[in-house]
Amino acid sequence: MAKKDYYEILGVSRSASADEIKSAYRRMAKKYHPDLYSMKSEEERKNAEQKFKEVQHAYAVLSDPQKKQTYDQFGTEDGPSMEGFGGFNPFGGGGFTGDFADDIINNIFNAFTGGGATRRRYERDGDDIETVLNLTFEEACFGIEKEITFTRVEKCKTCGGTGAKNASDIKTCPKCGGAGTIRVGQRTPFGMMQTTRTCDRCGGEGKIIEEKCQDCKGRGRVKRQRTIKVKIPAGVDNGQMLTMRGEGNAAYTPNGANGNLIIIFKVAPHEIFTRDKYNLHLEMPITFMEAVLGARVDVPTLDGVIKIDIPEGTQHGSIIRIKGKGIKYLRKELYGDLYIKIIVDIPKSLSPSQRSKLKEVEKALEKANYEKVQKFRKKRKGL
Ligand SMILES: [Zn+2]
Ligand SMILES: [Zn+2]
Repeated sequence: MAKKDYYEILGVSRSASADEIKSAYRRMAKKYHPDLYSMKSEEERKNAEQKFKEVQHAYAVLSDPQKKQTYDQFGTEDGPSMEGFGGFNPFGGGGFTGDFADDIINNIFNAFTGGGATRRRYERDGDDIETVLNLTFEEACFGIEKEITFTRVEKCKTCGGTGAKNASDIKTCPKCGGAGTIRVGQRTPFGMMQTTRTCDRCGGEGKIIEEKCQDCKGRGRVKRQRTIKVKIPAGVDNGQMLTMRGEGNAAYTPNGANGNLIIIFKVAPHEIFTRDKYNLHLEMPITFMEAVLGARVDVPTLDGVIKIDIPEGTQHGSIIRIKGKGIKYLRKELYGDLYIKIIVDIPKSLSPSQRSKLKEVEKALEKANYEKVQKFRKKRKGL
């Protein structure tokens, strides 16, 4: 089920101020208040009740700075849940509390509707699930389709989420008559006051279940393993996340939205390449003779070996940039570059004959052949 936009529900823009949100809420809640629909048709009443709940929920989120911020950022007030499966409790954990919404409703409506029991039933969306997906360096660079298996809470198929063995096992709560709330008299300094409380028999549901569904033990939801195919785009990097909307845990209440599945990529390092955003870096050793004389050498890239020319007199540590041989940009037809850092390999432990041949070469060279050495020694003399 697609998540409804809370701003849309209240009919305000995303930049609306707290006051604008509040007055929009009052306006919408008045419009759909159940008391105004008590004489209307069943359909109209149900529709208004649904709208009324949505308005309440939207306001509960948008009037709470913390929840609003989370909602603006993640598209759900629950944010990216780090608890995973831990919060499997239909009435506990995060989300907003009924008390909060009750307070608002009572404050606003008692004034002009003369009170009246309001249903204490609010939609609660499912929790998000986070899962880590391991990728090879190449899979992250080129993209891949992968199967992900994870455990999530789903609506129980046996009972259709009602938690009852048979439909006839769902009964209207005898204590509250289905309202979910009961009226209690309270002695106060101003005399007896009538207040409404959540019904303790049904926990505010308005219904009780006589015989519970065997498969879900009455919870209406069950843990299930699920495998889905995920298309991972080329260019994703270590630590990046992909959100699959609605693939998380089932909603706590019948009309809530499912949570999201958040896939976090863990990309393995490459044997020779390192990555800096979309650029690739490679340290490439060449022989000291190749550095001195220049050479045509093979260079590995992500899509095969290419040949490049090392110029005569290439210095140790110098960097050669090859355009477009880096990583593809995420969702763009653009590529980073490949940076090759030259490592000059100096021969160690020479044999006597190698040594004498090299000495002859050294004799043939002139001071001018060693630019850096000359410069340095001139400075040293001045000290
Ligand atoms: Zn009850
Ligand atoms: Zn069930």
